[in-house]
Amino acid sequence: MFCVSKWPLDAYLRVERLPTLWCPGCGIGIVVKALIMAIDSAKLDPDKIVLVSGIGCTGRAPGYLKFDSFHATHGRAIPLATGVKLTNPELKVVVISGDGDLFSIGGNHIIHAARRNIDMLVLCVNNFVYGLTGGQVAPTTPTGAKTKTTPLGNLEQPFNLVSIVATAGATFVARWTVIHVPQLKKSIEKALKRRGFSFIEIVAPCPTHFCRANNISPIEALERLQKVSEIKNGLDPREATLDFGSKIVCGEFVDEEREEYTTLIYSLIKERSGKDVRNVVSA
Ligand code: SF4
Repeated sequence: MFCVSKWPLDAYLRVERLPTLWCPGCGIGIVVKALIMAIDSAKLDPDKIVLVSGIGCTGRAPGYLKFDSFHATHGRAIPLATGVKLTNPELKVVVISGDGDLFSIGGNHIIHAARRNIDMLVLCVNNFVYGLTGGQVAPTTPTGAKTKTTPLGNLEQPFNLVSIVATAGATFVARWTVIHVPQLKKSIEKALKRRGFSFIEIVAPCPTHFCRANNISPIEALERLQKVSEIKNGLDPREATLDFGSKIVCGEFVDEEREEYTTLIYSLIKERSGKDVRNVVSA
């Protein structure tokens, strides 16, 4: 029988749902732990936090966490999160999903959310494949890498996620890997305390599909992250290379202020109608 010992952050977990469905060696649990450590450290009211996810291994995370949450259809986490935020701007909305969900089917939504600078934090776990559905090629799969659907090697060039969202207008952009837990926790806490569209990519190669298909053991994957990662805070995100074989540039690349979408919309409504609708919807 599975036994869960008492842990200081148990209050944030639906312990009755454990164990998770994540494979041994998967990095998603590390990201979830960093998220709840950051929420705890930021002293945010758990009742004011809403988690939203799409489909995929990462998309299962809100199911294990004790917050109000939505598990959206594939690729639609961002529109759902946008609806939550617009309806009740007092809420802190966190999207936690994978690279396939957010940048393939949901690719259109994320660039527009970044463009609007709507207040939400998006945590994107980049595992280089579609994990939950069996290891198919994703828009983040490195060129030449083998997957279930590219057994001879991927011919396409992967997206650079931090470059895309920064170009689209995100006002906080960072990248870490699953070996950068203190830095990741710090960036999440910073993003939770600010207002605007924040994006954090977390590189976490999928041991079961990506690593196995490319003859990399889970330990070798972590060793490689350690070997090839370098931190360059403030670097232009377009220059933030992500090459799992040779160089992964991590850091906080963008941190700037711009008018936030929800604030603009509620100010406009107040200006036109004379009513502070925000107090009505959040009551
Ligand atoms: Fe993690 Fe890959 Fe297993 Fe999904 S399939 S839980 S990404 S190791």
